[in-house]
Amino acid sequence: MNEMDKLTELFMRFPGIGPRQARRFVFFLLRQDAGYRAALIRSIDSVAAHIQQCSKCLRYAPLHKERPVCAICGDTHRDTTQLMLVEKDTDVEQMEKSGAYAGHYFVLGGTLSLTGKKSYLREKELDSYLKHHVFAEIILALSTTSDGEFTTAHLAEQLKSKARITVLGRGLSTGSELEYADAATLVQALKNRA
Ligand SMILES: [Zn+2]
Repeated sequence: MNEMDKLTELFMRFPGIGPRQARRFVFFLLRQDAGYRAALIRSIDSVAAHIQQCSKCLRYAPLHKERPVCAICGDTHRDTTQLMLVEKDTDVEQMEKSGAYAGHYFVLGGTLSLTGKKSYLREKELDSYLKHHVFAEIILALSTTSDGEFTTAHLAEQLKSKARITVLGRGLSTGSELEYADAATLVQALKNRA
């Protein structure tokens, strides 16, 4: 394997990146000046050094100086009766941008898979989180893809004894992922949850 193949393979591990796109990234980097490449390498190192996984919601974020929690989990003004389950870290960011939600989050890390390809859901981690924290409402805010819907149904069944379970309203179009929804759509979807 030559140098270009090695880097291509590393890019192919990125979510949603296939071999051709990965190859285009390699050529893109080759065309940039050395300063850009050095900044990229420094930035990757710096993110790895300063960003850690929150011990509560499991998202990656700068953590509190004394406690291993993120700014959201450590914020005592947030609503402690609501928990929102999302797939990805970016979903939390998108929901925060909408300003429509003031409760807590838990990042599932993925969905169950109908086709059985890649599937990872932090069910054990969620279980232990819910052993230590009680919520009145758990909001399921997963993608409206078929895997997302399948996972929503599964979690609703699993969690129904623990809290009132609601699902984000269908202001979100079918097949859409939360991270691509705009703020107005999220506000509406949250309002229309049932
Ligand atoms: Zn957190």
